[in-house]
Amino acid sequence: MQGAELFHEVNFNSHTSKGNGGLKNSLRFEAPWLILKSMELETLLKAQKNVSLRRIGEKVLEGKRLSPEDALTLFNSNELAYIGALAEYVNRQKNGMFAYFVVNRQINPTNICVYQCNFCAFGVLKSDPRAYEMSLEEILEKVEETYQQGGREVHIVGGVPPHWKVEDYVGLVREIKSRFPQMVVKAWTAIEIHHMAKISKRSYEDILKELKDAGLDAIPGGGAEIFSERARKIIAPYKANAEEYLEVHRTAHKLGIPSNATMLYGHVETYEERVEHMLRLRELQDETGGFQVFIPLAYWPEGTRLGGKRTSSVDDLKTIAISRLFLDNFPHIKAYWITLGEKIAQIALNMGADDLDGTIEEERIVHSAGTTSPYKQSKEKLINLIRSAGKIPVERDTFYNIVAIYP
Ligand code: SF4
Repeated sequence: MQGAELFHEVNFNSHTSKGNGGLKNSLRFEAPWLILKSMELETLLKAQKNVSLRRIGEKVLEGKRLSPEDALTLFNSNELAYIGALAEYVNRQKNGMFAYFVVNRQINPTNICVYQCNFCAFGVLKSDPRAYEMSLEEILEKVEETYQQGGREVHIVGGVPPHWKVEDYVGLVREIKSRFPQMVVKAWTAIEIHHMAKISKRSYEDILKELKDAGLDAIPGGGAEIFSERARKIIAPYKANAEEYLEVHRTAHKLGIPSNATMLYGHVETYEERVEHMLRLRELQDETGGFQVFIPLAYWPEGTRLGGKRTSSVDDLKTIAISRLFLDNFPHIKAYWITLGEKIAQIALNMGADDLDGTIEEERIVHSAGTTSPYKQSKEKLINLIRSAGKIPVERDTFYNIVAIYP
């Protein structure tokens, strides 16, 4: 073994906008097993009989960008092990053996929603007996509980109630930030921000500046669903469209607010529409570099007007792996354990994903659609999940700065 192969260097803050000052920019680990050898990949390619798949593998090995046609070829292939190995090769180039998690809490302040998307089992009308709305005190109690437990991120998303004004969204961020200045507030999806702009007849920039001044640190990726106009008309005809979603994120990035990106798959969309969705995200990322992570979200049909079937585990893993291969400018791919379940999320960590999300504490949106994953996960459990998947657990903050490594 050559000396150079004994180390793998990972630049932690190269793609983050904020440093926590706690750790150096890069760490070196004595671990010859960190990188899947290109030699191993070459052997895999030689054994690949399908010419198109082999050609895609060669591109991966040469570090070339995959085309939309390549991504479509992968979606139409059943060679999960091959696609997963290619994706894991790319992941290890980017993230070594690290797999990330965050100690956080999700808060869904209300399920009252004007948009009534057909794929959503969470949003209800105000008159619905299931409707709820948390008080400010209730929300602050949850934030305090998380803070006392060492959590440093609150992720706030919910329905879009007809009676909420811009001040309600901004005021909540301001209250949390003024009482818990160390807490990172990741709040309001592009859908909510578009709604605020619409009801107040103000620009996205204006709204985002006000939120930022109030203490907003990042915006989550929810609301992207699938960008295809055809599919969006069926699953979510009334809320912000693809252009509006992308414009909110573009504006946020311009203002120095990092964000995440998602894709809801497994409902009425085609593989072509999945690829088109990822292409539009890749193009925006080329332009701004403001996305931190891509999160493929499997559709859960229970309790929705749209109905349908759950995705298969093979589809879940293939979608994660292809996103890792296609979104070459995204530093991270998340295997969201709430929708995937713990076991599939562990496999995903070996097929291109490098992040499990977090402890969550409480989640109502996906649980309304039937997921049976627990509502929360202890930090120890997440560490064990990652370790037993063969990876090194790394606690991160919202911006992927390292908080602690659990070798
Ligand atoms: S997906 Fe979001 S916008 Fe659509 S109904 Fe559900 S909560 Fe409302």
